[in-house]
Amino acid sequence: MTDDPGLLLVFLAALGTALATGLGALPLLFLRDASPRVLGTSTAAAGGLMLAATQLLLVEGVDISWQRTAWGVAGGIGAIWVIARFIHAGDGDEAADFGKLRGANARTAFLIIAVMTAHSAAEGIGVGVSFGGGEDLGILVALAIAIHNIPEGLAISLALVPHGSSVRSAAGWSIFSSLPQPLLAIPAFLFVEAFRGVLPVGLGVAGGAMLWMVVFELLPEATGRARWPFVASGLVVGYLVMLGFTILLGGA
Ligand SMILES: [Zn+2]
Repeated sequence: MTDDPGLLLVFLAALGTALATGLGALPLLFLRDASPRVLGTSTAAAGGLMLAATQLLLVEGVDISWQRTAWGVAGGIGAIWVIARFIHAGDGDEAADFGKLRGANARTAFLIIAVMTAHSAAEGIGVGVSFGGGEDLGILVALAIAIHNIPEGLAISLALVPHGSSVRSAAGWSIFSSLPQPLLAIPAFLFVEAFRGVLPVGLGVAGGAMLWMVVFELLPEATGRARWPFVASGLVVGYLVMLGFTILLGGA
C-alpha cells in the first residue's frame, strides 16, 4: 500500500466522518413521549456522552504535550464562559429562537452545537495530521473518529429533538457540527508539522469547553426536569456508550 495518500482521499475520509455524525439522530425516531423525565434523562445522557468524549480528547492531547493541552483547557473554559454569559444575557426573554426551539432551549441548543463544532475542528486537524503519518494510519484514525461521531450526533440530537426539533433537522445540525473535519483535515495534512504543534492546544480547548458545557449547562438542566436517579442513570449510560464505542475500535 502506498504511503502517500492523495488530497482527495483525505477529504473523502474526513467527509465520511462528518456524515457519520448524522446517524446519531436516528435513535430519536423512536423517542415519542417527551415528558420532563425523558427530557431530563436524555439531557443527562448527552452530558455523559460529552464527558467521555472530553476524556478521550484530553488523553490524546496529553500524549503529545500536557502543557499545551492544559493551556488549551484554560482557554476553552474561558471562551465558553464568555460566550455563555453573552448568550444567557437574554434569558427570560422568550423571543430567541433556533429553528423550532424557543427561549432557554434555543440558547442551550445553540451552545451545544457551537461547542461540538469547535471540538470537531480539533478532530479534523487530528485526521489530517494522521494522514501525514501515512495512509494506513490516516484511514484508521478517520474510521475511529467516524464511529465516535455517531454518539456525538446522538448527544446533539438528544438536546434538540425532545424539545421539539425534527429528527431530520437534528441530523442536519449533527452533520453541520462535523463539517470542520473535512475542511481542516486538508490544510492539516498539507502543513502537518505546523498543525502537529497546535493539535494539543485545540484538543485542550475542545475538552475544556465540553467539560464546562456538561457541568454548568446540561446537568443543571437535567436535574431541573427529572429526579436525580434518572439523571444519574442517563449520565452513566451516555458515558459508557461513548467509551464502549471507542474501546470496540481499540482507540482507547
Ligand atoms: Zn469527538
